[in-house]
Amino acid sequence: MTQSIRKAVKDTPAYPFQAIDVPVKLDQNENPYDFPLELKKMVAERMLSLPFNRYPDLHADRLKVAIGNFENWNPEGVVVTPGSNVLLHQLTSLAGLRQKVLTVKPTFAVYTLEASILESDLTLVPLNPDFSLPVEALKAELQKGGPGLFYITEPHAPTGKLDSVEEVEALLEVAKEHGWLSVIDEAYYQFGGNDFRYAVEKYGNVIITRTFSKAWGLAGLRLGYALTTVELATELQKVISAFNVNALTTLAVEVALENPGYVQKIADEQCSERDRMIEALQKHPTWKVYPSSTNFFLIRTPNASEAYQGLIDHGVLVRRQDSGFMLEGVLRVSVGKPEENDRFLEAAMQIQTS
Ligand SMILES: *Cc1c(COP(=O)(O)O)cnc(C)c1O
Repeated sequence: MTQSIRKAVKDTPAYPFQAIDVPVKLDQNENPYDFPLELKKMVAERMLSLPFNRYPDLHADRLKVAIGNFENWNPEGVVVTPGSNVLLHQLTSLAGLRQKVLTVKPTFAVYTLEASILESDLTLVPLNPDFSLPVEALKAELQKGGPGLFYITEPHAPTGKLDSVEEVEALLEVAKEHGWLSVIDEAYYQFGGNDFRYAVEKYGNVIITRTFSKAWGLAGLRLGYALTTVELATELQKVISAFNVNALTTLAVEVALENPGYVQKIADEQCSERDRMIEALQKHPTWKVYPSSTNFFLIRTPNASEAYQGLIDHGVLVRRQDSGFMLEGVLRVSVGKPEENDRFLEAAMQIQTS
């Protein structure tokens, strides 16, 4: 039945995710707060006059203008897709298909899955033991030369670490010299306080990706975008199918962009909750907690499967990371609402304490 399916597809594992129904959901790095109700009402009202029978904009052109205004970016250098995961697929298609893809490990699963499906020549350089960037080893790989795609994630997923501008620039410099397209994934920039947009102009071969799924609290609507040069955006747009962002999502994101005040407020609360959780967990007798510049953090446990199940028994769901490179025993915890975080901490302190 499957003899026509490409071997690369058959050899690629499915996206590693298991949905489990528990009261406290800290497994997907989502915003624990829903999109504000008054904004939802605005969306609902505008929806009534939205013609469902008509196709949306060909390439979400109005939305590009709205994002461009928000980001202070030329709309012709903006590309939007239903979630930035789609963008990552299309970026691989743009510059990684049967070419090189280079990043670090551990890394975000989507980069490697797309590279596998699109038959990229994938190289993963191990992070340093403290999760910092292996700058010299990456430079050595970059110097072997493109063409290909080079991913940097700031702050990094799944470690939560934000790297220094100097380290990132050292890599962007070499990537530019040796014919790579550099992608900086800023899915969590509102938590890290970083902003690599300037690198697009400085280096020219850089694409920034951002998303409405995390700080904006719109994961269910699916919208991600790229900020880059007009030249690169024009090429990237070619590999994205027509009419790919739907009219309802467009409408909701427009309302969000007109009323962005809630975003940084919640992101700041999430950061202080994260710091509170990390500090409390430092007293855990057997778990090691890692610092983070995002809305999630890692803990290393003596037995990930036991810790994971123990938390579920207390009604708390986190994400296992323990099959990842360098991540033996590691779980990933998303920051929730304060009461959810309390429940997590209470459960944590009762698990694997001896
Ligand atoms: C969550 C996440 C994204 C965003 O994915 P969407 O498809 O936009 O929901 C992108 N990159 C990383 C590293 C992420 O963790």
